[in-house]
Amino acid sequence: MLMFKALRNSRLPRSVLLLRFASSATTTSNCKYDYDLVVLGGGSGGLACAKEAVEYGAHVLCFDFVKPTPAGTKWGVGGTCVNVGCIPKKLMHQASLLGEAVHEAVAYGWNVNDQNIKPDWKKLVKSVQDHIKSVNWVTRVDLRDKKVEYVNSIGRFVDPHTIEYIQKQGERKQLTAKYVVVAVGGRPRYPSIPGATEFGITSDDIFSYEKEPGRTLVVGAGYVGLECACFLKGLGYDPTVMVRSIVLRGFDRQMSEFLAAMMLERGIRFLNTTIPLAVERRADGKLLVKYQNTTTKTDGSDVFDTVLWAIGRKGLTEDLNLGAAGVQTYNDKIIVDHTEATNVPHIFAVGDIIYGRPELTPVAILSGRLLARRLFAGSTQLMDYTDVATTVFTPLEYSCVGMSEEMAIEKMGAENIEVFHAYYKPTEFFIPQKSVRHCYLKAVAEVSGDQKILGLHYIGPVAGEVIQGFAAALKSGLTVKTLLNTVGIHPTTAEEFTRLSITKRSGRDPTPASCCS
Ligand code: FAD
Ligand code: NDP
Repeated sequence: MLMFKALRNSRLPRSVLLLRFASSATTTSNCKYDYDLVVLGGGSGGLACAKEAVEYGAHVLCFDFVKPTPAGTKWGVGGTCVNVGCIPKKLMHQASLLGEAVHEAVAYGWNVNDQNIKPDWKKLVKSVQDHIKSVNWVTRVDLRDKKVEYVNSIGRFVDPHTIEYIQKQGERKQLTAKYVVVAVGGRPRYPSIPGATEFGITSDDIFSYEKEPGRTLVVGAGYVGLECACFLKGLGYDPTVMVRSIVLRGFDRQMSEFLAAMMLERGIRFLNTTIPLAVERRADGKLLVKYQNTTTKTDGSDVFDTVLWAIGRKGLTEDLNLGAAGVQTYNDKIIVDHTEATNVPHIFAVGDIIYGRPELTPVAILSGRLLARRLFAGSTQLMDYTDVATTVFTPLEYSCVGMSEEMAIEKMGAENIEVFHAYYKPTEFFIPQKSVRHCYLKAVAEVSGDQKILGLHYIGPVAGEVIQGFAAALKSGLTVKTLLNTVGIHPTTAEEFTRLSITKRSGRDPTPASCCS
């Protein structure tokens, strides 16, 4: 009767509710463990998994603990994305775009004095941090409401079903779980050179950094390096990017080079094929960075206010005592199969800690949710890691889904692919006379039949918003025929995909004559 009343009053679909009640019968009430599920790590993947599992009646506990950075920065529950990743990054990106928009506004007739406009770094940091704290608070309330038990400690294995942690009062405690999901994510790496941890900071520090960054050396040319350099530039600082080999390894080469050229055009300096050797603090407080150009084999040095390491991330396996559970790792990541199961069948991993999978929030969230449904709701749906769309949040953003041109050539042979491409001119760029030099897109497709699309690439405004819908289309088997039969929305930049007519093979000039032909 009670169950029936709950069914009637709930807004969840009946099928989901039935599954939930059916599965709750198998949970801890008649289970020999303290919990049905213990999740190690309260970030994107861990929280999604924990919250989904309680929906199906599981008794769940989630550990989350953040060790302070060498510079002393720490933060609350929610993981990387919320505290030191996607969210503060997007806010700083937006702040930097707004600086650009002020100048554009003048051209559009706004009576704004755009001379010497300067951001207030401290105010920006405070606004960003206030938002993060509100998200931390909402997260804790949500966990409490959903009845996910949350423990703010490091969890570590004692044996495959037992987790140990230290309580706030210093007392050691153990608990047991039927299933364990490891979702501990990663933290930025520091190079093994003198002065790296003493004087350098990382993305874990920059979003709450009290000092204005000033002249900044950003070491690393992956997502984090390029995004940080760009928002710093947009905020009026002076970043230099140190590139060890190439920018954006793993991405489409032509698009990556375009992005670097766009950054160069905006006054961001690059130290190419260069590695750092040492960082020293001078008497005036500034940082002297010694480095080597690995092509010319020459040493150099320069002085900066801030050094930001963006050289990749390390999986947080070292505190887990994985040996006690017998879980296999590769370097600092956990090896899982297609069901996110480790070699120990009741121990799973989701998110950044998995070896060889995209390190992106929506990937962590969806794989966590699907895993919980498989464990507690009888689902068989697996996470599909293919064709995951992504965006690099630079001032002209770069977004893509599917294969790069190189990947398609390698997989199918150059003769079997066709690349459609175009430069385009966003309407809103004309009045402020913004550079359109790097507004470019391409579709990588099969050469024959209806020409199945293998990859889509776009550099321009709001790239993530443009590509998200196309990603769903690509996953549904989008072809060039369908794309060109789709009526565009005018005047947008996304419609440029529906107007692609020039192939690289044709050798024709992909520069548009006018916006509306
Ligand atoms: P995390 O979110 O890192 O959460 C893991 C949590 O577990 C952390 O709180 C950690 O402290 C805690 N923990 C670790 N060990 C233990 C332990 N033993 N016991 C208890 N707790 C533990 N992705 C995007 O999709 N879009 C973006 O725009 C984007 N921007 C980013 C910008 C930056 C600067 C960075 C660094 C990352 C960005 N990412 C972005 C990546 C995204 O943040 C990660 O993919 C995502 O947060 C991974 O989630 P996760 O659950 O695997 O791990
Ligand atoms: P990446 O692995 O993407 O890039 C690391 C960069 O540092 C590379 O350019 C690499 O060069 C360089 N590097 C590595 N070691 C050294 C060294 N010892 N000295 C000098 N340079 C070095 O890591 P990121 O930290 O940029 O990003 C981590 C992950 O976070 C990304 O893979 C992404 O999934 C996620 N992320 C997503 C974002 C988004 O969705 N917009 C934004 C930010 C992060 P080389 O190519 O030579 O190895």
